[in-house]
Amino acid sequence: MTVSIDPAVAASLRGFEVPEKLGFGSVMAPAMFRARCQDGVWSGGELVPYAPLTLDPAAKVLHYAQSCFEGMKAYRTADGIALFRPDRNARRMAYSAERLCMPAVPESLFMEGVTTVTAYCANLVPANSGESLYLRPFLIGTQPDLSVSASTSYEFYVIASPSEAYHAGNMRVWVEREDARAAVGGTGDAKVGGNYAASLQSIARLKKRGFDQSLWLNPGNRHTVDELSGMNFFAVMDGELHTPALNGAILEGVTRDSLLTLARQLGYTVHERPIDIDDLLQLVSSGTCSEAFACGTAAIVSPISVMGDGDAVYELSAAPGPVAERLRAALLDIQEGRAEDPFGWMVPV
Ligand code: PMP
Repeated sequence: MTVSIDPAVAASLRGFEVPEKLGFGSVMAPAMFRARCQDGVWSGGELVPYAPLTLDPAAKVLHYAQSCFEGMKAYRTADGIALFRPDRNARRMAYSAERLCMPAVPESLFMEGVTTVTAYCANLVPANSGESLYLRPFLIGTQPDLSVSASTSYEFYVIASPSEAYHAGNMRVWVEREDARAAVGGTGDAKVGGNYAASLQSIARLKKRGFDQSLWLNPGNRHTVDELSGMNFFAVMDGELHTPALNGAILEGVTRDSLLTLARQLGYTVHERPIDIDDLLQLVSSGTCSEAFACGTAAIVSPISVMGDGDAVYELSAAPGPVAERLRAALLDIQEGRAEDPFGWMVPV
């Protein structure tokens, strides 16, 4: 299908100036992609000026959280602009949509959305290393109806934001022993708005204690590590990499998968396994666990310098550690076009 381009898009792009200070996700590109779905039938996509949405106050998304999204990036490389593994985001969004009884955005429409926005906003893709055009595809249920049932109408959007990395520098993470983010059998492994709403109280609490991020434990057993609110978790023990095995409560990160692949290629031994939090903290104390880091599209690889658990504080001896640094460089070198792309991850726009 061809995308229809609203003639007003050109003027909004012309009148747009990228501010010097980007931050993460606060500067919005002036164009967005939109497609609608009614009773399972998708309309063609449109590129329109970025603008507030009109939603009926009874729209299902506002009451029953029929909302899922993706986070991905367009990078500037020597050869132009490219997306990183967009097929993985398309598939994960289809999985999230199905979990919430929403129609999956067909992969071709998803790709049309992300490539159209990127192509039209090409001038907004930053050139500095670590910066990129962050893309946020999302799908919402719009039917105005207060009965608890799946919406019959949906809207799919792709908005974009020229951004810096989400967490620059070392992070202090806090072991969340009270709240749970997403129940087992619930939506933990789906990228749905409600999971993030459930994490906010914990984040507000830990910020008051001088920490940056919650480290979530498995909501079923309450003693193995799952992930952070928007990142997956890795620890380095005796030079080997350990990350929690996927268990239905953890989001299957594209960065996690990419780092596992790169680490194996670089010769590291990697373990995907349940990681007991008390064992982990003890290994940090003894120095066997020398580094830990979080990873995600927005955060890339973010070293963890401190883990707080109640009143106890555990310092990681290496932050940023050599393994995190090496993996971060290997990933960014591919994403920013400085290294070969042996896995065919980069998709030119
Ligand atoms: N876990 C959660 C809960 C997330 O929101 C994210 C960000 N999408 C990740 C992990 C990392 O996933 P990815 O590497 O695909 O960005």
